[in-house]
Amino acid sequence: MSLDPRTRAFAEQFRGRPRAILEESQRSALLQQLRRLSSVPFFAERLRPISDDLDNAGPLDLARFAELVPTMTKADVLSDQEKNSPWGSRLAVDPNLLREATLTNGTSGTGREAFGLTAEDVYLNALSGVLLMEWAGLGHSHTTANLFPVGFGLAGLAASHAADVLGWNIVQTGFLGTREKLEAFRRFGVDVLWVCTPSYLARLIVEARESGGLEQVKVVMLAGEAYPPEFVDAIEDEFGFRLIEAYGSTQLAVFGGGTCPDTLNTTASSRLLHVLEPWILAEVLGSDGAPVDDGEEGELVVTPLYRMASPVLRFRTGDKVRLLPAGSCGCGRPFRLIEAGTIGRIDDMIKVKGVNLWPTAVDHILLAIPDSVDYSAEVGIDGDGREFIRATIATTRSYSAVEIDAVTERLRSATGLHIDVGSRVVTAHDLRAEAGHKSRRWSDSRQETLGRLALGSSQ
Ligand SMILES: [Zn+2]
Repeated sequence: MSLDPRTRAFAEQFRGRPRAILEESQRSALLQQLRRLSSVPFFAERLRPISDDLDNAGPLDLARFAELVPTMTKADVLSDQEKNSPWGSRLAVDPNLLREATLTNGTSGTGREAFGLTAEDVYLNALSGVLLMEWAGLGHSHTTANLFPVGFGLAGLAASHAADVLGWNIVQTGFLGTREKLEAFRRFGVDVLWVCTPSYLARLIVEARESGGLEQVKVVMLAGEAYPPEFVDAIEDEFGFRLIEAYGSTQLAVFGGGTCPDTLNTTASSRLLHVLEPWILAEVLGSDGAPVDDGEEGELVVTPLYRMASPVLRFRTGDKVRLLPAGSCGCGRPFRLIEAGTIGRIDDMIKVKGVNLWPTAVDHILLAIPDSVDYSAEVGIDGDGREFIRATIATTRSYSAVEIDAVTERLRSATGLHIDVGSRVVTAHDLRAEAGHKSRRWSDSRQETLGRLALGSSQ
């Protein structure tokens, strides 16, 4: 079987075929990619342990690849691009072939990774989005609203890539407020919402209950956060659209997962996402770095098989997943599966308003303020469906409004997010009483609130 990864039918050709055919396709794509990358400075050293395998004519052993090639992290990418600005020594094409510049989101204080895309990278990014839309039962003649701003983020660009190939009309709403978005959906007959975090969907539905705007919507693509299944069931009942889920990342450039069409008509707790294994190699590692068995939780480690410009090999995503063996959905696709709504984080990163927030970035600021002793912070959704972050500093003296404003501004420039800052004066006696049963500094009440919002009762 000869398969071209750059055709629309590529991923679907594995349907009904044994998993061995998929793995054979992965092995041959990986071998080609590794041969290409063995002369790229960033990868040359990493690939040395398997250089003999790359010279051999025989098939590449995936287990040996995982055993001998080290994993890489965000920190590796950042330190490389610092020394070799702007793309790092991992750029694997002539810079003249670049067509798009993307940066990962989030301002952890550690920097944003730069990823370039060639025309081929852009096209594969589109094809993976097209596949998810076809799985959602959507064909021609749709109008989609892109909810993410078009800028450096691939999340915002991907909608346009896929709409191009699908021949859809696309309405760019990322720069609009919530009410204006809903007006635009109605005005232009938007029936597909492209990439919405579950928390932002809560915001949209609270507003839509008052002003409308979601009546003509048929499909909403959720991504970016875990969610409770009852949220999905209640929202679908109330608004009459389908919620599909997508998993993606800037490092992959293609979507890494999407809802299996054969599970879409079940309740959300029975829905499953396929890992898009035709385009990516997925491993799940335990905390000891060793692979876990299917069904066990661990960190997702990915290798996009066809990425041209800014490839990664065995990239540690920081995402926590539990992969189920292929076949649990019954659709005949030999790709492994993830339960809908369950993709979380293994580190402390919290996604708020689609932005990656690392609590340590907040620690650095709040714990450094004169007289601050500790702080607690909550991420939540208010009665209007708005996501908020609230931090309360425990301090030994009260702060002036000017001091609080200055702290708020520093937090904004470090994290890219507005954080409501308050303070409470504590005495040595309070601190003694609190010591010993110290709870975690950060709490996140969003999932709980989503469940309540879905039932129509605001908090
Ligand atoms: Zn399936």
